[in-house]
Amino acid sequence: AKRDGRGLFRFFEQSMDEDLRRRAELESALKKAVAAGDIRPFYQPLVDLRDNRVYGFEVLARWTHDKLGSIPPDVFIPLAEQIGVIAELTWSVVRRACREALQWGAQVRLSVNVSPMQLKDPLLASRLLSTLEEEMFPPSRLDVEITESALVDDVDTARATLAALQAEGVRISLDDFGSGYSSLYHLRAFHFDKVKIDRSFVLAMQHDEEAGRIVDAILSLLKHLGVTTVAEGVETADVLRRLAENGCEIGQGFYFGKAMPIGDASKLLRRRRSD
Ligand code: C2E
Ligand code: CA
Ligand code: CA
Ligand code: CA
Repeated sequence: AKRDGRGLFRFFEQSMDEDLRRRAELESALKKAVAAGDIRPFYQPLVDLRDNRVYGFEVLARWTHDKLGSIPPDVFIPLAEQIGVIAELTWSVVRRACREALQWGAQVRLSVNVSPMQLKDPLLASRLLSTLEEEMFPPSRLDVEITESALVDDVDTARATLAALQAEGVRISLDDFGSGYSSLYHLRAFHFDKVKIDRSFVLAMQHDEEAGRIVDAILSLLKHLGVTTVAEGVETADVLRRLAENGCEIGQGFYFGKAMPIGDASKLLRRRRSD
């Protein structure tokens, strides 16, 4: 084949067109899916490591498109943020999760993710509280997970939102702890009920002693601050044992179960209760 620059350029042009076309297709599919309520809540168990009971479930959004197949949240969540439908997506997933989870006992909590962009909305707290009220879901059974990137833009709005939610009994979790760039600063600037150690550290514990020591130290730090500790990405019994020995209170990960539909989550609850 002739390797002239022009041919190569044409090839890139074509693949760029192809990318743009696919992105446009995904965008319009996502808009439709959000409007139609096709994005559904799945539930991943959080287990209390002190008594081995289910503490609650994290709500994780799942989307399966008729033609495009299953699309991961790492793809559609950022896209929903870019095209301005993240709030609509969140509310539909949270609303449905509250409705579905009402059937569980009062001690089972629900943990929902709120996108950093949404934390800029001064009405976020009142919107969330009125959604809970409409679904008759007690705010005291809800945890809201936020990431550090949500806290950097508008500290005052974020602080007011978190305080308003906490005043109604909602608990606030700092998600992906350690993966941001000013984790320790945020521990001082905000009051969190829970901190979730980023799964990259917990996954690395399987083969990296250094990661293990970092997690041990994070657990000790958080305990001194009186914050409830959660480790996500627990995949093996060895990691679980080390976390528990070092005082980690709650675990989440494939060792306990992946995110699952409501029916399977309810079954898991019944099975563990009768153990
Ligand atoms: P996240 O909030 O950190 O959620 C935890 C992610 O870790 C989930 O990925 C979960 O499936 C995965 N995970 C849990 N246990 C394990 C484990 O043992 N090993 C490994 N390798 N992974 C584990 P998922 O569901 O793909 O979600 C990815 C991210 O997308 C979430 O990260 C969250 O930032 C975002 N996301 C998901 N659902 C929502 C939503 O409803 N709203 C918003 N705003 N973001 C969401
Ligand atoms: Ca989360
Ligand atoms: Ca996380
Ligand atoms: Ca994340």
